[in-house]
Amino acid sequence: MLEVRPVQTESDVSPIATGLRCRCPRCGEGALFAGFLTVVDRCRVCGLELARNDSGDGPAVFLIFILGFLVVPPALWLGMRTDWPLWLHAIIWSAVILGLTLGMLRPAKATVLALQYRYRRADFDAPEGAKEDER
Ligand SMILES: [Zn+2]
Repeated sequence: MLEVRPVQTESDVSPIATGLRCRCPRCGEGALFAGFLTVVDRCRVCGLELARNDSGDGPAVFLIFILGFLVVPPALWLGMRTDWPLWLHAIIWSAVILGLTLGMLRPAKATVLALQYRYRRADFDAPEGAKEDER
């Protein structure tokens, strides 16, 4: 059976803790974002090169599953217990989903990036242009 083990890193920084705090996956101190979802090119504390990271659609896909699990049951329960018109449900649940998505997207992206750093470290250490050569 294939055993998957994390690559040893310089620190024992938890990918989940650093992701939820939106910090650098290596040192856990430097800010990860320069804008709302724009990742900094390089960590200001430890110098980790972050410009070549690629979390892709991973954070959005995780949020679709997590928010679906969190929002759909209360929406169904409230829909069965009240006589609210559909337009009111549409407004309320759209606002809830939009707020939760905007609030959770940064930590989700930071967590995915931290997990990539832990388990796919070669992507961060690859020389410039190496990822493009693989395609
Ligand atoms: Zn750092």
